Order: sequence, then C-alpha cells, then structure tokens
Amino acid sequence: MIKTVAIVGRPNVGKSTLFNKLLKKRKAIVEDFPGVTRDRHYAEVTRFLTPFLLIDTGGFEPISEDRLLIQMREQSQLAVEEADIIFHMMDVKDGLTPADIEIAKMLRQINKPVFFLVNKVDGDKQELDTVDFYSLGIDKFYPVSAEHGRGITDLIDDLEKILPPVPEKPEPENEIRMAIVGRPNVGKSSLVNRLLGYERVVANPVSGTTRDSIDTDFTYNQQRYVLIDTAGIRRKGRISQTVEKYSAVTALKAMDRAHIVLMVLDAADGVTDQDLAVAGYAYEKGRALILVVNKWDLPEKDDQTMGKFISEVQRRFKYLPFAPLLFVSALTGQRVNKIMSKVEEVALEFNKRIPTAKLNQGLEEFVSKHPPSMAGDQRIKFYYAAQAAVRPPTFVLFSNRPDKIHFSYQRYLVNCFREKFNLDQVPVRLEFKGRG
Ligand code: GDP
Ligand code: GDP
Repeated sequence: MIKTVAIVGRPNVGKSTLFNKLLKKRKAIVEDFPGVTRDRHYAEVTRFLTPFLLIDTGGFEPISEDRLLIQMREQSQLAVEEADIIFHMMDVKDGLTPADIEIAKMLRQINKPVFFLVNKVDGDKQELDTVDFYSLGIDKFYPVSAEHGRGITDLIDDLEKILPPVPEKPEPENEIRMAIVGRPNVGKSSLVNRLLGYERVVANPVSGTTRDSIDTDFTYNQQRYVLIDTAGIRRKGRISQTVEKYSAVTALKAMDRAHIVLMVLDAADGVTDQDLAVAGYAYEKGRALILVVNKWDLPEKDDQTMGKFISEVQRRFKYLPFAPLLFVSALTGQRVNKIMSKVEEVALEFNKRIPTAKLNQGLEEFVSKHPPSMAGDQRIKFYYAAQAAVRPPTFVLFSNRPDKIHFSYQRYLVNCFREKFNLDQVPVRLEFKGRG
C-alpha cells in the first residue's frame, strides 16, 4: 500500500514550492487531452525509487483572521488521520517561531515519523542560521531549499529508508479490480450493497481489508472481480468534518490499486471540484473511468433533465470525453444492473490487444487520409506502430521527427485509433519515438 507524506507548517514557509519540486516531471506521453487541472494538492511522486503520495496542506489554507490557528488545527488532524509520514517545514528566514514550536509539540504526540525541514537554506550563509532550530530539542534537521533543490536528495534518501518497498505482487490473471469512489453521502455503500446483492453476483467473504477500504471478491459471468470499496469502513466518529475535504486521499489510494474506477456523483449536487480532482488523478494514472450518477430518483424530470446533466458533466470533465455515464438509483434499484454490463464493456476495451498488422494498416490509412504537416522543409514520416501496453491501451509510433508532431495531429491520431479499434470508452495513449 502506497504511503502518504503530508507537508505541514506555517503559511509561506514554502510547502507548495516543495510539493511542486517533488512532483514528477511530465513524461513525453501523449494522452487524450492536455492541461488536466494543475491546481492539485495531492499527487503521486514517482521520480524516486519508491513512489509515495504527497499532500500539500498549504493548498487548503483557509483565508481568515485566525488563519494560523485554524490551519494548525486542521493540519494536525490531517497528520493524525491521513498521513503516514510528516514533513514539518520551517523557514530559516523567520527563525524558530512560537507557532513552529507549537506544531512540533503537537507532532511529538502522534506516533508517526516526522522529518523536520528548515527551508530557504539557499546557500552556506543560511546554513549557519539553522543552529537556531536546535533549541527544539530535535536530533536531525534537513536544511533544504525547496526553490533551488538544495538538500532534497538527502531528504529523499532518508525518506526512502523508511518507505517500505511497494511489493511487486504478481497480479492474478484475469482479475479485474474496480474501485468505488465519490464524496461522502453520494450513495457508495448503497450501491455496493445493491451490486453485491445482485442475483448473478457471487460474492466471497472479505479478502483484503486496509485502513481505507474493504476488498470483496466476486464473480460475474464467469469473470473474477475485486471490488475496492472506500465507503466500506464507516468513518463516522473517526473522521472529523474538517478532514473530510482531504478524504480524496482515500480515493487516491483505492484508485492506485484499481483498473476501473466507478466514480459516484450525486444527481442533486452535480460535479464538484473534489470530483474533478479525483477524476484528474484517475486520468493521470491511466485508469478507466465510469461516471455513475446516483439518486436519479430525486430530481424532478422533464425531457431535458438528462441532457442538461450530460452537458454539465461533459463541460466539467472535458478531458474525459471517453468516460461513460450511467444514471442510476441505488434506492429504487433503477438501472443498477447496467453497471456490471458497462464494466464488462469497458474492461474489454481496456485490455484489448490490437494485432500489429492491423495497427500498421490503420496507421497507413490515417496518415494517407490526412498527412501530417511539414517540420520545416522536412516531411514527417511514420515508419511503424506497435502496442506497448494494455490498461490503458498504449501505442508507440516510430517516426523520423517524433518531436515535431503537432498537438492537433496527435489528437487526430488518437481519435482515429479510438474509432478504428473500438476504444471509445477508455483512455488511449500514444507515444512518439524516433526510429529506435
Ligand atoms: P506555503 O504557504 O508554505 O505553501 O509557501 P509557498 O510555497 O507558497 O512559498 C512562500 C514563499 O516562499 C514564496 O514566495 C516562495 O517563492 C518562497 N520560497 C519557497 N521556497 C523557497 C526557498 O527554498 N528559498 C527561498 N529563498 N524562497 C522560497
Ligand atoms: P456513502 O457515504 O457514499 O456510502 O453514501 P450512503 O450509501 O451511505 O448513502 C447516503 C444517503 O443517501 C443514505 O441516506 C442513503 O439512503 C441515501 N441514498 C443512497 N442512494 C440513494 C438513491 O439512489 N436515491 C436516494 N433518494 N437516496 C439515496
């Protein structure tokens, strides 16, 4: 299970700067649409040996007069309830402040590893000023410069010493893992009960349970599935209201282990920002996504209600045009039986392998129908296409000028692949490479 690292500390010490510094560099992989919301406060860091989930608590800072107090309270709750490891960041320019001492005291009471960072140590001069912080009574500090990257390697080296290696568990053949995610009260538990109670589903006893979710094995049409249920563990009493807004972390962890994500929306609420953030993560991870609009029994409907909802979803999730949309009611059971048949369709596409000969025939056809524009005075040529992966279907196209293929042409090709090979409900990735 992936570990969660939260960066806490006073406002303006540099938490967001470190967060952005640690995020992975974008790979030159073309996805369906660029510019997934960058306004992210949690992300998986994959640049180092062991991946981990990073939370920037600075991104959630409340704007108010008691900002500092509120923030400290929220961060401490977050640290207690969600994080496995904590980076407590301080600022060498301000020296040790009473708020730093307060936060450190709070962190000492919870039994989790804490790394104490002194930020803005941009050079040797500031390094000397860190002596100030020893009065906290802490053995080890990490002098860093989030902005310039100084000290980050030492920090990550020590972090990796305590991160358990993510086990390379061999994946059972043919098992399809689906995660049910969504905000509290959208009806996840009700849907899970309906799904597992459905007559053709043969559910086995709980097979794997984590702090964040319950796994259930079941068989449907001779196919094995694992349902990763994030609502399964009733968090009432444990989770506080303020931490609720961080609960996307639970969804992130579940999506990490899933192939297909069922994202439950509430017909009454439409699409919220948190839904977007969670869907953006699914998209970046290349997960297949099905949007399930629950409580469809509630709205007063006329002949435009569904159309309006669909337009709203398409507008908000514009980088996910492929995600199928279902309208259900867990309460009445209406159309709940469509969920598994949709999962079957999506799984088929997600795992699809296209024979190389067909791929190359297709590529030739797409390029002759609509040739790429010139790169300067050079003609862009495609030599060969191969499927590099499934889940999601990923194709590598070899070309003389992989760096010069215009974005609009990349989109054209993605759309051709989708249409020709019936991959219209899942993410599809293209990679452009030089002639190996
Ligand atoms: P947050 O409120 O804790 O998330 O802080 P930010 O990341 O927004 O940073 C606050 C300010 O400190 C910004 O103006 C940053 O440019 C600056 N800053 C962050 N890291 C460093 C650093 O390593 N050195 C210096 N000199 N400034 C930094
Ligand atoms: P979770 O927190 O996402 O697991 O949501 P629950 O399954 O606990 O449902 C939250 C509330 O919404 C409960 O009171 C349910 O009875 C209600 N609910 C769930 N599904 C539906 C639905 O399809 N229609 C209506 N009207 N209410 C529903």
